[in-house]
Amino acid sequence: MPPHQPRGAGDSLGPAHYVFDMPRFAALVRRAAPLLRLAGGCSWAEGPVWFGDHGCLLWSDIPADRMLRWSEADGVSVFRQPSHFANGHARDRQGRLVSCEHGTRRVTRTEHDGTIRVLADAFEGKRLNSPNDVIVGPDGAVWFTDPTYGIDSDHEGHRAEPEYGGCHVFRIDPTTRRLAVVSDDFVRPNGLALSDDARLLYVVDTGGTHVENGPRHIRALTLDAAGQVVASRLFATIDVGFPDGIALDDAGRLWCSAGDGVQCFDPDGTRLGRILLPEAASNVCFGGARGNQLFVTASESLYKISLAVRGAAWK
Ligand code: MG
Repeated sequence: MPPHQPRGAGDSLGPAHYVFDMPRFAALVRRAAPLLRLAGGCSWAEGPVWFGDHGCLLWSDIPADRMLRWSEADGVSVFRQPSHFANGHARDRQGRLVSCEHGTRRVTRTEHDGTIRVLADAFEGKRLNSPNDVIVGPDGAVWFTDPTYGIDSDHEGHRAEPEYGGCHVFRIDPTTRRLAVVSDDFVRPNGLALSDDARLLYVVDTGGTHVENGPRHIRALTLDAAGQVVASRLFATIDVGFPDGIALDDAGRLWCSAGDGVQCFDPDGTRLGRILLPEAASNVCFGGARGNQLFVTASESLYKISLAVRGAAWK
């Protein structure tokens, strides 16, 4: 169990610290809002996902092989252990949990009765690397990234060799359930987010962890109606640490984890500002009853901060 388990509203670290790259960032934040540390004691917190009907957040503590749960009413508890070194999660249109598992090198869905169903574990007959992060599109398509972080060592999974020879971005078709390659030209694809109309896919590349002067940026992929990539461009580069997890707000702005906390980008790629955190952040998601709470997994901790914007799902 985490040694630090505040219950209820959580420990306030005082007013959040913001950096305003652009004056208009001021309209997106609440200057007096406290930065709340909801949980600590994680080995590497990742993969936050909000369950509105349960009023709770689930997230991963990858090296500890467990998933944790937080709610205002109940505080912190263990949700699943072992978790097969689960990393990123999403929720589908039917409210089911979709998870990336490093340890089993697969993407799964937890059915309403608790049964765990495998959505993908191989590509062209070879094992996936270690699915990292996942989203579900409005049509039910499941999009996920497959870098090697979960097989590079025994820290976040089980050390093993890559089998298919790449680090792809994949899409599982909602009708045929077939796995298709979205992109094969990322060094280490990581967090991802999809626009409302499913025509713009943002994908983080954290290839700088493996390649000197490699990418630490976010790319924007333009999709056609069938989900095929028709164009790709650099969207933004993270200047402190690495980008990892991303989320869109109700105006299409992108919120991205970084070495210094969370960075916010306009749809045109301009950095608007940052929320500074005392630990390197790994992932973000919107939640709360009105969608204006930003949950951030960051190294050992889970943080929450109240914003003046809502997540895209609350549009
Ligand atoms: Mg990630």
